[in-house]
Amino acid sequence: MTKKLFYDNIYQKEFTANIASVKEIDGKFHIELNQTAFYPEGGGQPCDKGTIEGLEVSYVYEKNNKIYHIIDREPPKLHLLKCAINWERRFDHMQQHLGQHILSACFHKLFDAKTVGFHLGNEFVTIDITLNNISPVQIEKVEYFANQVVFNNLHVKQLYPTASKLSELPLRKPPKVKENIRIIEIDQFDFSPCCGTHSSHTGEVGVIKIRKWEKIRGNIRIEFVCGNRALKDFYWKNDTINKISKLLSVKDIDALSGVERIFSQYNSQKKEIRKLKEQLLDYEASTFYQSAYIVNNIKIINNIFDNRNFEDIRNLAAKIVSKPDVIVLFGLKNEKAQMILSCSKEIDINMTKVFKEVCPIINGRGGGNAHTAQGGGDQTSKLEEALKTAQDIIIHQYLV
Ligand SMILES: [Zn+2]
Repeated sequence: MTKKLFYDNIYQKEFTANIASVKEIDGKFHIELNQTAFYPEGGGQPCDKGTIEGLEVSYVYEKNNKIYHIIDREPPKLHLLKCAINWERRFDHMQQHLGQHILSACFHKLFDAKTVGFHLGNEFVTIDITLNNISPVQIEKVEYFANQVVFNNLHVKQLYPTASKLSELPLRKPPKVKENIRIIEIDQFDFSPCCGTHSSHTGEVGVIKIRKWEKIRGNIRIEFVCGNRALKDFYWKNDTINKISKLLSVKDIDALSGVERIFSQYNSQKKEIRKLKEQLLDYEASTFYQSAYIVNNIKIINNIFDNRNFEDIRNLAAKIVSKPDVIVLFGLKNEKAQMILSCSKEIDINMTKVFKEVCPIINGRGGGNAHTAQGGGDQTSKLEEALKTAQDIIIHQYLV
């Protein structure tokens, strides 16, 4: 059985230990120490990391009351090994974990909601609480309450009560184990069975900030950060707001209304541009229609565009062929060659058939229906030839 130094002194960062056993598994060494300040993964809290005689500890786990530390190399000696835990990582876990107890207790006290899930991730912490819905006002209320618990710097104690004493404690949730039950008490405010590591005073949590919430499987998942994580979150958010307000030349407090104003201008300008574009295409369509080449009362329009949007060209073609007795043969030269062949609906020429005949000229592919066909190929220099061929086919096979 490994002596758990982290339960005697949660703030112990360095210690000396002897090796009780070494197991080599898949090239890694699983070191069992006689005593350890390394917290093994458990109770929703990730394990500690650090070093044993300067060798990196990548993972720590508990099995049958023994704690194993995984290192890459064989330890240099068996006795009096110098060990150190990564304090930054541990303190972060203590802040997040105690913050979770406080927040869960506040949800319980204010809204009678239980915490049914807890995840301490690398960036964020989440709890799942038994509520169907929660409003922003309720979120603000619970967050405010939780932070008052932090600021009051309440003493956090660990209790190992006897069975009869345990039955008298107002536990927030029942214990998962049957013996050696450890209760974390936040000075009369909350009693919760837990095996994790927590700061000795609520003040060390610093601040508890709820980032967002969402419905998950009938519960509400609350995402939050505490202490240094909250500070980091504040850094980039503050920086972002400052940059936005500078861009918009408004006070930071007016950043959102500034963005909303610009967004609404953008939307109305987008509408205006769409309207103007339509008018321009209508004008372009009637110009083409009036200057068409006429064969046997059928108007033929053959044109190649450079650097235009294919969507616009297709729109333009559709506008022209909505008028009677007209055939449109359009090409578009961008990084590739695109064609659209189209005719008014009363003209009895299969445009897809014509398209398939000229398509190989531009090494292209495509298709369509009887009235419109479109596609593209890589031979941009052959686009004129392809359209000219299509025009010749139409005139000689269908119109004369
Ligand atoms: Zn805990």
